[in-house]
Amino acid sequence: MSKTTLIIGAGGVGRVVVHKCVKNKNIFGKIVLASRTLSKCDAIKSELPSANIVTACIDADNVDALISLIQEVQADIVINVALPYQDLTIMDACIATKTPYLDTANYEHPDVAKFEYKEQWARGDAFKEAGIMGLLGSGFDPGVTNVFCAYAQKHYFDEIETIDILDCNDGDHGYSFATNFNPEINLREVSANGRYWENGEWFTSKPMEVKMIWNYPEVGERDSYLLYHEEMESLVKHIKGLKRIRFFMTFGQSYLTHMKCLQNVGMLGIKEVEHQGQKIIPIEFLKTLLPDPASLGSRTKGKTNIGVVCKGLKDGKKKQIYIYQVSDHEKCYAEVKSQAVSYTTGVPAMIGAKLMLEGRWSGLGVFNMEEFDPDPFMDELNKQGLPWQIKEL
Ligand code: NDP
Repeated sequence: MSKTTLIIGAGGVGRVVVHKCVKNKNIFGKIVLASRTLSKCDAIKSELPSANIVTACIDADNVDALISLIQEVQADIVINVALPYQDLTIMDACIATKTPYLDTANYEHPDVAKFEYKEQWARGDAFKEAGIMGLLGSGFDPGVTNVFCAYAQKHYFDEIETIDILDCNDGDHGYSFATNFNPEINLREVSANGRYWENGEWFTSKPMEVKMIWNYPEVGERDSYLLYHEEMESLVKHIKGLKRIRFFMTFGQSYLTHMKCLQNVGMLGIKEVEHQGQKIIPIEFLKTLLPDPASLGSRTKGKTNIGVVCKGLKDGKKKQIYIYQVSDHEKCYAEVKSQAVSYTTGVPAMIGAKLMLEGRWSGLGVFNMEEFDPDPFMDELNKQGLPWQIKEL
C-alpha cells in the first residue's frame, strides 16, 4: 500500500528532504510538507511540479494541532526538520497517534542554551507502549558521524579507545557574516563552552579555547576548535570501552571575530530586553538581520568534509582509521537547490526514514543511530549522494 510521509519544517534541510524523498517516491509515497509559513512549503513544492506533494500550515509547538494533522493525512512516518524546540511536541503527537518519528537535532528549550537527550530518551517507554520507533539525530552530525563510529566498531576494531569527530565547512558565501543553518541554533551552539569526555568524566573549556590544526582531505589544513556536540552524549553510552571522545569544528578568523564582537555587545543574548517599549530577544533580532541560510545556496562555493578518527585495538595491535565524507556546495545546489550543510543533513534524514519504512532499521522505543547495524546506512550514503572514504592513518 502506498505510504504518506509527513515532513515538518520547510527550511534549508526540509527542502533537501523533500527533493530526496521524491527521488525515492516508491518508498515515501505521497509527501505532505507542513511548516509555520505555508508560502515556504509552496515554494519547495513548485520546484518539483510533477511530484505528489501536498502542503499545509502547522504550528508545531501545538500538540493538538499536530495530532489533527497527523490523523488527517494518515502519516506513516513524521520527519521532523523544524527546530530543536519542537522535538518534544512532535514526539508527543507521534505517541498519541502511534506514528513513527525521526529528527536531526536534539531537544533544546528556547530559554536555556543547553541541548541534551534526557527528555527525548525519557519518552522511550511511551514510544514502546505506542508500538512505534523514534530515531534521534539522523542528520550528519549527529547522524552519519554516529554511523561512522558504529561502522568502525563493527568492521575495524575489537575496542575503540578514542574518537575525534572533525567537522569542516570550507564554503564561502561571499557575505562578511552569515550562518549555514538556522542562525539562532548555530550561534547558541558555537558560543557555548566546549566540553569533551574522558575516562567517564566531562571536562569543560571556554568557547574556542582548545584549537588544533587538521589536514582535511580535498580542503587542506584548517584551524579546528573543540566544541560540545550532541552525538557525544549517546556515543559514550553505546561505544563500549571508549576512553575519550572530542568534537572539533573549523572556523575562519573573520567568523570568530564577528561572533566575539556580537557576543561582547550582547547580540547573542537569549533573554528578553526592552527596546523603545518593545520586548525583543537579541539573538532573534540578529536572526532577522542575517541572511536566511536557505538563500545562501546559490552563492556558496567550496567543500565540506566531516568525519571521525577512531583509535583502538584490533587483534592486540594499535590501529587508527579516518572515515570521512566530502561534499561540494555547488554540486549540492545544482541537484536540490540547497548548499552542502543542508544537503548533508537532509540526505541522512531521508535515509534514516527509508530504512525505517523498509523495516531494515526497526525497534520499539527511541534510538540513537549507532544502536543499529551501520551497513545498510553506509550503503545508502554511497547511493544517495554522500559517498564516503576510509583511510588507515
Ligand atoms: P531553518 O531555520 O532553515 O528551517 C526550520 C523550519 O522550521 C522553518 O521552515 C521554520 O518555519 C520551521 N519552524 C520553526 N518553528 C516552527 C513551528 N513552531 N511550527 C512549524 N514550523 C516551524 O533550519 P534548517 O533547515 O537549517 O534546520 C532544520 C533542523 O535541522 C534544525 O533542527 C537544525 O538544528 C537541524 N540540523 C541538523 C544538522 C545535523 O547535522 N544533524 C545540521 C544542520 C541542521 P519559518 O520558515 O516560518 O520560520
